[in-house]
Amino acid sequence: MPEGEVTSPPGRELRVCALYPELMNIYADRGNLLLLERRCRWRGIGFQLSSTSLGEGLDPDGADLFYIGGGQDRDQRLCAYDLAERKRDALHAVAARGAVILAVCGGYQLLGHSYQLGEETLPGAALVDLWTVRADNGGGDAAGRLIGNVAIEVTLEQGQPPAVLAGFENHGGRTHLGSSARPLGRVLRGHGNNDHDGYEGVRDRGIIGTYLHGPLLPKNVWFADWLIQTALGLEQPLPPLDDELEQRAHAEARRAAGL
Ligand code: GLN
Repeated sequence: MPEGEVTSPPGRELRVCALYPELMNIYADRGNLLLLERRCRWRGIGFQLSSTSLGEGLDPDGADLFYIGGGQDRDQRLCAYDLAERKRDALHAVAARGAVILAVCGGYQLLGHSYQLGEETLPGAALVDLWTVRADNGGGDAAGRLIGNVAIEVTLEQGQPPAVLAGFENHGGRTHLGSSARPLGRVLRGHGNNDHDGYEGVRDRGIIGTYLHGPLLPKNVWFADWLIQTALGLEQPLPPLDDELEQRAHAEARRAAGL
């Protein structure tokens, strides 16, 4: 969608806060944020990006959408302790007021109770009832990693027909949902949470965790628009944009996943 005409502004601004953007940012996480910015601006919705990192606090009322991207185990380790010690209570306040938390891959793993890396168990934010165990040999090679294109079927609003999220996954961790957690979607192609139970991601109120990273939002702009709408608390869907290129990107991601 080229920069162009702007439709009627809903009269608001989307405030996004990125957690650990310099550490949790592998696979185009910055691109997901850029896409949110562009889709807001094209519609005349303001956009404000802030961040919080190691040693810093988190203002639960400071943003409408909080974003945690993917990360390597060594960066995740730093973030896990900081998250648990400095930001856990604030994140629980964010969840309680219904704001959106989007966590991708390594960030997703940190939403749960723990991430077990061999002998070490990293703490999580305990926002959702799940835990993750790394199944690879920790040697840095691809053994045991779940890698590839993936497509999942998702129903975000009750009564709506299911839609497809298509993307790419690359994780050594296997995530297991506890009895009170619900998945984001059902795996159509790929591995999902643990290559075993057919589920992908987690969804609880405004909290969304997923292993689909890379350009998740550029490949699935319907999902990006839902995030913006939900974060802004808008009743109606956002006005449509000319998404010809974006639809092609989505079709290509589905095709790559074998759908
Ligand atoms: N380090 C985590 C894992 O390998 C997450 C990887 C990622 O964010 N891509 O499971």
